[in-house]
Amino acid sequence: MPPPCSRCDLQRVINLETARKLGTATGALVGSLKGAYTSLYAPSRLMAASFSFPMTRISTAVVAAASGGIAGAAAGQQMVQYLFPPGEGTPWLCLGCGHAFRVID
Ligand SMILES: [Zn+2]
Repeated sequence: MPPPCSRCDLQRVINLETARKLGTATGALVGSLKGAYTSLYAPSRLMAASFSFPMTRISTAVVAAASGGIAGAAAGQQMVQYLFPPGEGTPWLCLGCGHAFRVID
């Protein structure tokens, strides 16, 4: 049962711990897709120089997807981390007024 917001009393609050996990996963996914897409479809001089051997291109896409995923996950994590209020307890974010607060269990 989520606690009511300490500012506006609404019960539309989300757990920031869950949001951080979701943000990390979503960021990783978006980062991977973006990295793979960019390396597969963006024109690159480096690619043209490597005899346009398909495997090179695919492995570069895989590497780009992996590193993009890591960067995306870090960005997602950082974004949500920024919302975390200082202190102890479970962090909550009110969807009504955007107030972040912690509740000690
Ligand atoms: Zn609120």
